[in-house]
Amino acid sequence: MSVPVRNVSFDVPANGRVALVGESGCGKSLTALAIGGLVERAEISGSVIGSPRIAYVFQNPMQSLNPVMRIGKQVEEGMRRNEESGSRQDRAEAVAQLLEAVGLPGSTVRRYPCELSGGQQQRVMIAMALAQSPDLLVADEPTTALDVTTQRDVLDLVVRMADERKTALLLITHNLGLVSRYAKFVNVMYAGEVVEHGDVASVLSRPRHPYTQGLLAAVPRLDAPRDAPLSDIPGTVPPPWDWPSGCAFHPRCPKARPECAASDFNGLCFFLRDETR
Ligand code: SF4
Repeated sequence: MSVPVRNVSFDVPANGRVALVGESGCGKSLTALAIGGLVERAEISGSVIGSPRIAYVFQNPMQSLNPVMRIGKQVEEGMRRNEESGSRQDRAEAVAQLLEAVGLPGSTVRRYPCELSGGQQQRVMIAMALAQSPDLLVADEPTTALDVTTQRDVLDLVVRMADERKTALLLITHNLGLVSRYAKFVNVMYAGEVVEHGDVASVLSRPRHPYTQGLLAAVPRLDAPRDAPLSDIPGTVPPPWDWPSGCAFHPRCPKARPECAASDFNGLCFFLRDETR
């Protein structure tokens, strides 16, 4: 049976900012859920797994918020799991402060999710996540459901709040263009595996894996000629039950060699092997 995510291992330093990048279907979200123990039958190990405080900001806030509960109650609910949350009055004050910190007016506590815009809902999700005082904040494509003018505000907010509270951040995105702005380390995933990793400056300035190169080339550039065609990676990520033999990227790889499809392929791209010699 194919395992959709396997042999994934990476570090998230305390207060660090790490990105997990790849197309839809590469296993990023499943990895993030497994870290929090939210995947049945996952075999996981590592120090972060033992942390009781991992909070998530998911893609679609409307699906994550309770539509029949006022915002104040929802933010407070996360706070109650925190032993240091204090009395009801303390929590009410903390909720108001948190909402103010994420840029929402105090009156938001009495509102229902349907009364807020998508950007405001995502700010509430950020407040709910931070209400738990997490050691690790997992932001899984937090701006996918938002319009482009709101995306940068929300991502700036996530990073600023994580920095201020000394919370480690795992940012999950399919957009390599966001990584240089918001992360210090990056893990590039393809077909359930990390195919390249390193500090952001090195990986983005000198990507070695052809998949990373393809993702980087697909980021639109403002300085490109107006009639230049947009670059893409041909094809799509195959589902786990249809992964090809050898390197899973080989049917889409512009640099594939005959050996790449061999059943005894050892999992490390030739370009990464050559450079480590
Ligand atoms: S191992 Fe071969 S097919 Fe896979 S990414 Fe490297 S060059 Fe391409």
